[in-house]
Amino acid sequence: MKTLIIAEHNHHALKADTLVTLGAAQQLGQPIDVFIAGHDMAQLSQDTATIAGIDRVLSWDHEALAMPFSEILAPVIANLRSQYSHILLASSSFGKDLAPRIAALCGVNAVSDVIDIISANQYKRPIYAGNAIATVQNNAACQVVTIRTSAFSAPSHETAASPAHIQALSIELPDTSVRFVEQTLSESSRPELNSAEIIVSGGRAVGSDANFSLIYDLADKLGAAVGASRAAVDAGYIANDLQVGQTGKVVAPSLYIAIGISGAIQHLAGMKDSKVIVAINNDPEAPIFSVADYGLVADLFETLPAMTARL
Ligand SMILES: Cc1cc2nc3c(=O)[nH]c(=O)nc-3n(C[C@H](O)[C@H](O)[C@H](O)COP(=O)(O)OP(=O)(O)OC[C@H]3O[C@@H](n4cnc5c(N)ncnc54)[C@H](O)[C@@H]3O)c2cc1C
Repeated sequence: MKTLIIAEHNHHALKADTLVTLGAAQQLGQPIDVFIAGHDMAQLSQDTATIAGIDRVLSWDHEALAMPFSEILAPVIANLRSQYSHILLASSSFGKDLAPRIAALCGVNAVSDVIDIISANQYKRPIYAGNAIATVQNNAACQVVTIRTSAFSAPSHETAASPAHIQALSIELPDTSVRFVEQTLSESSRPELNSAEIIVSGGRAVGSDANFSLIYDLADKLGAAVGASRAAVDAGYIANDLQVGQTGKVVAPSLYIAIGISGAIQHLAGMKDSKVIVAINNDPEAPIFSVADYGLVADLFETLPAMTARL
């Protein structure tokens, strides 16, 4: 059988999450097709076809897909299920929205947030905010799976010896009462939280949105993304799309610097797999120190300006 990956893209390039999903899909050891829905994406389809490890690119190009959304995509993808034993999506907002709809239309369970593929129908996934890892077996004929991208790697950037076949899908738009109205994107010159190599995160102790400039200054010196605890988000210091944790983003950068963050389990669930964790907190008993590789017991308002000045 074959695996189908549902691509996320910005109409010019695949998102990093989709490339990591490709890395995960390769562990299944079967041919991989990639489904791309969008508009004016001939170049994107061609570029995708040159990525090594892809058998076919299914390209659904339609002007109504300039902003593809789940209500349109789910029935179309579910109709392809007879060709595939596995449908894989990244465990991103897009994938988390789409996967359950596809699974419901296929009459199967979705397996979400997979961190390890043991076999064609057995997976590991975190439960209880990451405090336990469940091994689950799914006996459905078509497995709908979302991949926690912090647990897998993208394949090395190899170009296929010969490009994959691009199959243009000519499909009528499913009937739906849902329509796209507008998208408001937060713009930032900093790296994206999901794919950043370094993240500097601030917590409640930062104290105000104005004080968050201390976090931004350090992040900019390091070329890092900025993250935050939920307490900082709830207090209005920073936008909620930058929240790290159980109900925010799950990240695993090479370096995570937690500043004025206590280390509640819900925060740890989103960052404890980071390769190196640095914590700065004025309480030596703060739980964040139990996962930190390097800890500094210090006042952030003294430490951060000094650190940033030294970089
Ligand atoms: C269902 C649910 C889901 C949740 N999801 C998330 C989530 O996704 N992400 C998340 O982060 N939280 C989440 N939470 C909230 C979580 O439980 C904590 O309340 C939150 O993480 C605390 O944020 P904090 O560490 O910034 O604040 P606090 O717990 O108040 O910690 C502040 C820390 O700063 C230190 N500090 C104070 N002053 C200074 C200073 N001057 N210098 C240095 N350090 C200082 C203190 O010692 C303390 O350790 C969730 C909670 C629930 C119930």
